Amino acid sequence: TWSNVPAGPPDPILGVTEAFKADKDPRKINLGVGAYRDGDGKPYVLNSVKKAEDLLRASNPDKEYLPITGLPELTKSATQLAYGVDSVPFKTKSIATTQSISGTGALRIGGAFFARFYPHSKAIYLPVPSWGNHTPIFRDSGLEVRGYRYFDKKTVGLDFEGLKEDLKNAPEQSIVLLHACAHNPTGVDPTPAQWKEISDIVKERKLFPFFDMAYQGFASGSTDRDALAVRLFVSEGHQIALAQSFAKNMGLYGERAGAFSLTAADPDEKARVESQLKIVIRPMYSNPPLHGARIANAILSNPGLYGEWEAEVKGMAERIISMRERLYNELTHTHKTPGEWGHIKSQIGMFSFTGLTSPQTKALAERAHIYMTADGRISMAGLNGKNIDYFAESVSGAVKG
Ligand code: PMP
Repeated sequence: TWSNVPAGPPDPILGVTEAFKADKDPRKINLGVGAYRDGDGKPYVLNSVKKAEDLLRASNPDKEYLPITGLPELTKSATQLAYGVDSVPFKTKSIATTQSISGTGALRIGGAFFARFYPHSKAIYLPVPSWGNHTPIFRDSGLEVRGYRYFDKKTVGLDFEGLKEDLKNAPEQSIVLLHACAHNPTGVDPTPAQWKEISDIVKERKLFPFFDMAYQGFASGSTDRDALAVRLFVSEGHQIALAQSFAKNMGLYGERAGAFSLTAADPDEKARVESQLKIVIRPMYSNPPLHGARIANAILSNPGLYGEWEAEVKGMAERIISMRERLYNELTHTHKTPGEWGHIKSQIGMFSFTGLTSPQTKALAERAHIYMTADGRISMAGLNGKNIDYFAESVSGAVKG
């Protein structure tokens, strides 16, 4: 029956981990997937998460189904985290929200909802480049994926002029996907002043802003500061869509905890939108998983745990920033690597777009057992005091040829 099914290509990001696992060299380093590692290169379960799990266990919870839109306490606390208690849609109870299968699920629910109900356009504009999964998510949701300029290879920074021109030229009422903070894969974010300009263009062109916030807290170490773009757009009067993930900032990767929300005009519109979100979700997966939602909600709703979590998010962000400093210094000063490496320090969040070429990344994998995506993106969280010297030396060797 399936003799006509061709073998598909490996996933460009998860495929890197497969190659890493198959490598037996003790020096091997995996900088492919965006999962935080501690100073010893080990996966990190946050103490706030362990404590939340202890509290949950002590409360002897049942395993009943959640409602279609998930744990009500979580959808409330998640929107509070993103929008802030002072935001008008939060205060007026006008944010239609559902729990989601982490950030990916949130994007997919959003895509499906727009495909079904957004009356003006099927076109969604993604930054070029964007997270590799954005294109298939939105395409499979039934939207038409287009791109706007984002990254300037020459400056290894934001192509702000290109971005503005492309958004100004997008047909009115198109959907535009914005990374709320810590842009993946480039690590390049607009400044607050640039966000204001983007907001003005989005307003002028009547574009619909769809935020993907997979790294709240990871960019600056502060969840409030990282919500700047989302909160600015809301305060400027935009209706927004928002995908949230607790994978990175709570280290809940495999628990699949997240949320999707849409700001509505009033509580009545919110209720209608939520009723349709349920109809989108029910045939997809019926209702979301419990455990991660309970953990995330315990942290967000318990002031003690919340404080501890915030400190841990800051700790993760700071360790990454210290690795940026050290990598820059080693490439520039220790190894006198040709080229300008300032972007390693200035880029934000979990990733750095190194500027390494695809052949260089291939050579690093084959000769130095160092794995990253072919576009030269590295997960900074994979670097630590034990492997960074070897990494810098190997990169320098690859650049020198
Ligand atoms: N959006 C972006 C930009 C991401 O980088 C990721 C994770 N790599 C996600 C969404 C979704 O991740 P998850 O489904 O694990 O929450």
